[in-house]
Amino acid sequence: MKYRNLGRSGLKVSELSFGSWVTFNKQVDTNLAEKMFGTCLDAGINFFDNAEGYERGQSEVVMGKALKALSNPRDSYCVSSKVFFGAKENPLPTQIGLSRKHITEACHQALERLQVDYLDLYFCHRADPDTPISETVWAMHNLVTQGKILYWGTSEWSAEEISEAYEFAYANHLTPPSMEQPQYNLLDRNRFEKEYGPLYEKYGLGTTIWSPLASGALTGKYLEGIPEGSRASLAGYEWLKKSMVESDRGQERMTRVASLVLIAEKLNVSMSKLAIAWCLLNENVSTVILGASKIEQLEENLKSTELSCNHHTPLHSLLTGGF
Ligand code: NDP
Repeated sequence: MKYRNLGRSGLKVSELSFGSWVTFNKQVDTNLAEKMFGTCLDAGINFFDNAEGYERGQSEVVMGKALKALSNPRDSYCVSSKVFFGAKENPLPTQIGLSRKHITEACHQALERLQVDYLDLYFCHRADPDTPISETVWAMHNLVTQGKILYWGTSEWSAEEISEAYEFAYANHLTPPSMEQPQYNLLDRNRFEKEYGPLYEKYGLGTTIWSPLASGALTGKYLEGIPEGSRASLAGYEWLKKSMVESDRGQERMTRVASLVLIAEKLNVSMSKLAIAWCLLNENVSTVILGASKIEQLEENLKSTELSCNHHTPLHSLLTGGF
């Protein structure tokens, strides 16, 4: 496992990390989570991603129990939470968004669920048009000075909103964001590569990228329909099934996946390894957050570093040459 600085910060994160969206508390219970973390830690992963909104906070409860059971030293790994969507089924107006009140209370609640004294990374899960960015930056800065969070960042904010947060922080001598958590994979490239392009150099923006397999689409397993038990088949994820396979856009994306599968076959590598290795080759990626519902998927995906680090294979020139 290689380690990369989280943008211009001094924090070294493993180039592969592990997240819990959809899976923890739905497909993965505490026992399996513990085994998965064991596999991750053995492989050198040092960052585990979560959010208040995943399974209404229960994903963090599962993660907290599994991390506690493993009892690895707290200074050997990083854990995150994200604030915005709330952890309640029908949240009250004060239980969502990026107000000082919700940011502060959501942090305290995440610390309790994860059974930790501080969060290494704390993200604004989306931008909040109803809260001034200045209030959000102040709230994050205060949590940093209180020692409750170490680094803060954004997720799926526009480049303009991210710039505003940096400029306000710099002008007022507050802690600026360190990272953004955007989607980035072979099918979804525009925002990461184009919109955020100037921010990497200007602000030293770090990135913890999500859905490297586009929720499983890039494994190729949806080309013959929707496999039983897969993410797109789950109750509550009908929206994903629609966007992934049933819509015109989904069909267009599946055509692109089919041509990528042919390339993977020609190169004799699995599609998931190829897709993850491709993300790793972008130097603006600080860490690729993996997702897995089964330990075999995790083991397979961890092997993608073998492809990205071998600079002498024809695969490497193909990957760097672009698709
Ligand atoms: P992926 O795109 O890699 O999708 C992971 C899912 O794909 C697995 O749960 C599994 O689903 C399937 N899969 C993975 N590997 C294989 C394999 N080798 N063979 C077959 N199927 C496979 O990542 P996620 O979408 O899970 O995102 C990763 C993390 O990013 C999340 O856990 C979360 O922490 C973060 N995230 C952040 C977001 C944000 O807004 N900030 C949004 C989304 C995610 P199954 O078996 O059920 O089909």
